[in-house]
Amino acid sequence: MSQPTLETFVREALNRVPDPASGKGLIDSGRISGLVIRPDGRAGFILETDRGPADEPLRAAAEKAAASVSGVTGVTAVLTAHGVPPSSSPPPPRQPVPPPPEARKGAARPARTIIAVASAKGGVGKSTVAVNLAVAAARSGLRVGLLDADIFGPSLPTMMGAVGRKPEVTAERRMTPLELHGVYGMSIGYLISPDNPIVWRGPMVMSALVQLINDTEWGDLDVLFIDTPPGTGEVQLTLAQRLPMDGVVIVSTPQEVALVDVRRGVAMFRKTAVPVLGIIENMAWFEQPDGSRAYIFGEGGAQKTAAELETPFLGAIPILPELREGGDAGLPAARGEGVSARAFALLSEAVLNAAAKTAGKPPPVIEFL
Ligand code: ADP
Repeated sequence: MSQPTLETFVREALNRVPDPASGKGLIDSGRISGLVIRPDGRAGFILETDRGPADEPLRAAAEKAAASVSGVTGVTAVLTAHGVPPSSSPPPPRQPVPPPPEARKGAARPARTIIAVASAKGGVGKSTVAVNLAVAAARSGLRVGLLDADIFGPSLPTMMGAVGRKPEVTAERRMTPLELHGVYGMSIGYLISPDNPIVWRGPMVMSALVQLINDTEWGDLDVLFIDTPPGTGEVQLTLAQRLPMDGVVIVSTPQEVALVDVRRGVAMFRKTAVPVLGIIENMAWFEQPDGSRAYIFGEGGAQKTAAELETPFLGAIPILPELREGGDAGLPAARGEGVSARAFALLSEAVLNAAAKTAGKPPPVIEFL
């Protein structure tokens, strides 16, 4: 017979905590998912709830039970909403609706300025842009947060060079964002093992996101950038409804196929009353050794679409090998001295100025090095 593992003991401990709803232990009731035990003894799991914050004491009890197992060095338990069975669940709304004004007013405001970075399609460089905008803004002297809301494919840990690191938890049980390259970052990727991908159900995604925002000790942020998942789905809608966002920046390549989706994205954000600050064209061209530009994905498409949609064109970023290398190595190029750093310094200034305008606030003081 094989030796019981630490995971077995954690499961047993969790199962000794009764689930008030079913009377069974938390494991037998199926309320624990995504259990991970790291080699250093840190445990993490999700406790599903359909009672929201009312289940906080249960979450705390589960956390305590897991922490009491000898060999466990720390525990992170995330509370999420349980998926409603399909028979009783209403179909998701087809059309985004503007958030009720009172909901937006009552929402927590983790930063003076909140800017989402969105894209209609994956792979256009949205995360690269979000990370480098944040690093450039931090370099200008602002206190900058970055929330990786790409629950399905968090890239912040890789791009910031923080794979395997975990946020610390304060005595008040709040998570401390990881400060890297001057930016305070939080990502679901810091809480969940990449080897244990989670199949997120709609309501779980929403509550995990809200918890990531609300349970993080952001400090006194000047600006919070949010890297959203690609597309115009539920996550974008939830963020638009839950957070008083000052605006969204849409990243696109010049390709026509990407641009059709951009039009859709702009339309959605307009419906949710989040100001579209403008479009950033990424992978706009490639500079050849002789200095000429090769327009690999077409020329000026995003600029044309921006004009058509009466949305500002915020700028173009060429294909720059240092951007990809920096992303892979966890050293964002915006922290260096190269052309990317200069481009992102200007872009982040343009984005922050646009946000200040929509919010009717004076623009923050920007002092680029
Ligand atoms: P998304 O978030 O839209 O899925 P990513 O930011 O992950 O896209 O970028 C996809 C890939 O393209 C990454 O390997 C990234 O390093 C690379 N990349 C993004 N923008 C550029 C650019 N301007 N020049 C070179 N490589 C880029």
